[in-house]
Order: sequence, then structure tokens, then C-alpha cells
Amino acid sequence: MSNDKTSGSPDTAAISNFIRGMIDADLASGKYAKRTDPNGHPLPTVVTRFPPEPNGYLHIGHAKSICLNFGLARDYGGRCTMRFDDTNPTKEEQEYVDTIIDAVEWLGFNWKDPGGDHLYFASDYFDQMYHMAEYLITSGNAYVDSQSAEEMAKNRGNFTEPGKNSPYRDRPTEESLNLFRRMRAGEFKDGEHILRARIDMASPNMNMRDPAIYRIRHAHHHRTGDKWCIYPMYDYAHPIEDAIEYVTHSLCTLEFQDHRPFYDWVLNKLADGGFFKRPLPEQTEFARLNLTYAITSKRKLLQLVEEKIVDGWDDPRMPTIVGIRRRGYTPEAIQLFCERSGVSKADSWIDMSTLEGALRDDLDPKAPRAIAVLKPLKLIIDNFPETLTEDCTAPIHPHHPERGHRSFPISKELWIEEEDFIEVPSKGYFRLFPGNKVRLRYGYVVECTTCDKDENGKVIAVHCNYFPDSKSGSEGSANYKTKGVITWVSAKHNVEAEVRLYDRLFTDPHPDAGGKDFKATINPNAKETITAYLEQGMKTAHADEKYQFERHGYFVADRVDSKPGKPVFNRAVTLKDSWGK
Ligand code: ATP
Ligand code: MG
Repeated sequence: MSNDKTSGSPDTAAISNFIRGMIDADLASGKYAKRTDPNGHPLPTVVTRFPPEPNGYLHIGHAKSICLNFGLARDYGGRCTMRFDDTNPTKEEQEYVDTIIDAVEWLGFNWKDPGGDHLYFASDYFDQMYHMAEYLITSGNAYVDSQSAEEMAKNRGNFTEPGKNSPYRDRPTEESLNLFRRMRAGEFKDGEHILRARIDMASPNMNMRDPAIYRIRHAHHHRTGDKWCIYPMYDYAHPIEDAIEYVTHSLCTLEFQDHRPFYDWVLNKLADGGFFKRPLPEQTEFARLNLTYAITSKRKLLQLVEEKIVDGWDDPRMPTIVGIRRRGYTPEAIQLFCERSGVSKADSWIDMSTLEGALRDDLDPKAPRAIAVLKPLKLIIDNFPETLTEDCTAPIHPHHPERGHRSFPISKELWIEEEDFIEVPSKGYFRLFPGNKVRLRYGYVVECTTCDKDENGKVIAVHCNYFPDSKSGSEGSANYKTKGVITWVSAKHNVEAEVRLYDRLFTDPHPDAGGKDFKATINPNAKETITAYLEQGMKTAHADEKYQFERHGYFVADRVDSKPGKPVFNRAVTLKDSWGK
């Protein structure tokens, strides 16, 4: 697919999916049309949220959720809240909050609208959640259980056997309330008591067997400090967070499907208690993104970092947002990828080539062109005057003449690609071999004469003669027909630069499927560092600038190590998909 667009906006002309279908139906029925906030201001009819736990770096799977949630809010003129689901005190840190904010903003989204700045922390709702829990106790919907963790697990039953009621299930409401208040006051140790919803220990859905609501955790929280020693469970907190933020469509991954009845239970009980108005938020599940040749588990990504298999979270081989950003991916390419990979109800794999293709399609119309010689071999033009240098010109972008030209010198000695010379050609080889003519791209036609070798027989230089009236763009050039065109840079006029040739991190399309050891399929050639000769204009490249190095692919000046004057480039993606072949 090639779409030549000049603007920076992604080509995301809403591809429909079942979630959009559902929203369209809700808009048609006016389901969320008449809601107002406590000040009487109308609320958006589409409110989504992105609710990461600040316990790690975001990866491409999260990007999918970000593009979906923020993309829907954008397309429907709604709102998407940015919420840190920081209800678990021990694993969360401010460092992660900062990198997550950075990642979402970089992807091109924000959470501000005329109604305010919708950046929220679930921990800011702890007081409300606590009061709601007291209400659930007093209304007979929750009780403090004092069984040990082992007893609780044993009495929970399993998929074939119903659970058994806790001996504490029917303790008086006053006793539960009193115990819950003392839990909060810090009178008990972790695990001594737990607050549970009173639902049905025989429910075929394990999540409805009196799920835990609050547990004791004497732990310091990165925002609330030591204020709390009891913390709400995710399944209780999440629907409340959604309702407080007036979420309409709460989108989550398929593994939460069996949690939906409890989500609805919590909200309905609390709506009955007057805490929330109907219509309530609704949870909808979609298939998580699985990307071939990658892993998207925070825990396994952490292993790669800790065991120094990669060079940190932002290693360009990593599927983290900081990693793919450093690799040279653009926000537009990622949005395009998320749109193209669709939203589905059934788990499936998206091929890495879809991600790579989105980057090519985004960069092709945008990226300026440049010449780079990656595996250099000397070419000597014997009849070129020793002291002569001449400028050659080339378009900055072949399809956008309005973007102007660049120029670079040609001189007697050049660097060409090693693979562009062969002493004895095979059939169909049109580049340099003794007696053959080729065009030096944007320069002259040359005829190869001979080569020099070292004592091992390795070719160290190639000789040729040029035709002074054959220069590209000159009148005489039409008189020369060659089958081969090769790229080159002047040996005296170029930038010597470190170039990192990145490739896929795994050789197996499903590195961690079926209990495989994902570390056994690491691609040892996923990073190759070389010294290349670049067109001299690359000397001033700024960090993050992206170029197409003709015939090699798309490259970005590394955002960490590249400096104007001393550029370092990363290969983001090759020009063609060589893995599918
Ligand atoms: P991990 O399983 O890697 O630890 P997580 O799901 O626990 O990730 P959260 O911080 O809870 O990480 O995720 C934030 C949001 O991103 C959630 O709504 C979650 O559903 C979504 N998300 C995470 N991974 C994916 C994925 N692979 N595809 C789509 N959405 C995802
Ligand atoms: Mg999670």
C-alpha cells in the first residue's frame, strides 16, 4: 500500500469495528444523552479511559489500547480520561507515571477538554471507595471474613464444585462494620481479615463467589503515603473509578470477560445506594494485541532488561513505546498500525510485517532521501582529474520536487557498496564487473576496468573510467544506456558514522507461546553495529530525524547518542519485507 500524503495526520479514516458499532447504537438510542455532572453541565456521550497500572513501561499492546480509547474519544467528539490505576501500593512508582504520561502524549493524545484536565489517580478515590464499602456492609452486601487465606482458598470450590459459605458470612452487620473500621485503623496484621462481597458461593462464575473487596496491606503508597493500610481490590475499584469519571464504554481485554458480572454487581449496588446515577458504565472486552516476533508481557520484558539481553527499556529492539520510538517509529505509524490491526472479539496474532509496513507507509512520503554506503569498497575513477571535485544534485524527495534539491561532491575516489562489484558476474548481474558500464546515481556513467586485491585475494579497490559527457541531468546523459545504477559517496567528502542495523528481536514468530522459553529464540543478529559513510549533509542531522537511505531502508538519528556533527543512525526498517520471502 502506498499513499502519498503530505500532512502529518495518520490515515485512520475510521475503519469500523464491533465497538464502533456498539457506540453508534448507543448514540442512536440516546442512552448516554441526558447525563449531567453535579453542576448541571452536560457530559459527553462517549467517555472512555486508558487505565494503566504505573508498574512498568508501556509496550505496543498498550499502544493498541491507547489508540483505541483515545481514538474513539477523538472520532466521536467525546472524552478519554488518563487514569493511573494505582490501587496496588507495593509495585507502583512515580518514575512509571512519568514515562507513561510521556508515552501517551508522544503518541499524539491528551486528556484535556473544555470540561477540564482529565488526568486521574485511582488513589484519589480511596476515601470514596472506603465509604462505599461501608455502605455495602450496612446494606448487607458485604462482610468481614476472618478465615485464613488457606481456608478461604479451600472453601472457594473449583470449576466443578461449588464453594462453601464462610463461618463468618452471617456475622452481624455491626460486627463487620466495626471490624472493617478497625482494619482501617491498623489494628490487624496483613491477612487477618478481609472484606468480601456477599453474593453466592455456589455461583458457576468463580468471580461471583463472594469476591474480596478490601484487604489489609501495611504498605507505603507512592501517593497516599501511610494514610491507608487497607487497599481496595482491582475488581472492586475499577468499576468505581469508571463511574466516578463518567465513563460510558469501559474497554478491556478478553480475560476480564468473567469479571463483568461483578463489575455490574458493584455498580448496581452502589447506584441503588445513591452513589451513582444510571445509565452506568458498561464493560466491553476485545482481544489483546499479540504481535509476532515480539513479546508483550511486562514481566518477560523486565527479564530481558535485567539479564542485559537488551540494552535497557529503550533498546530499539524492544517492543516498548520508548524502544520503538528510539528505533525510529513515528506516532502516526503506530496509530496507523493500531487502526489496521483492527479490533476483534477473538484472540489472534498480528504479523510484525503489519507494524513494519505501517512505518514504511508513513515515512515513504515524508522522509528526505540520502545516500549511505554501509559496506564500503573503494572505487577509483582512473581518468578523473586528481584535484577535481564537482557537485551532483539529487531531489530531497523524488515525489515532492517542491521540497528542493540537495547536492554532494564527486571526486576521483568513491565509496561504493561491496556487493556492487563482482569479478565474474552471474547471469542477471548488472552492476560493476570488468567491461560493464553502470551509472553512478545522480552522477556519471563509468566503465569498470579491473580491481586490486590483497594477499588473500580479497578485493580492496575497483577501477573504472568515467564518461565526462554522461552526467545525470546533462544533455549527453541520454546517450548512455546502462542496466545498473549504483549508490556512492565521495571518499573525501562524507560523514563517517556509527550505524546500528536492527532487526527483529526473535527468530520465532511466537517466542513465548505454549510455554516456550522465549530467551532461546533471541535473534543474535538483531543488532549489528557498523561504520558507514554517509552523504555529507547527514553531518548536521538532528536527533530523531528520519531519512530514507536509498536502497537500504529508513533510518533515524538516534535520540540518545546522535549529536549534530557526530551522527549515529538506527535502522528503523528495511525498504522491503525480507522476512516474508
Ligand atoms: P501486562 O500484562 O504486560 O502486565 P497489563 O494489562 O497488566 O499488562 P495495565 O497497565 O493494566 O497492564 O494495562 C493498561 C491497559 O492496557 C489495560 O486496559 C489493558 O487492558 C491494556 N493492554 C495491556 N496489554 C494489552 C495488549 N496486548 N493489547 C491490548 N490492550 C492491552
Ligand atoms: Mg493489568
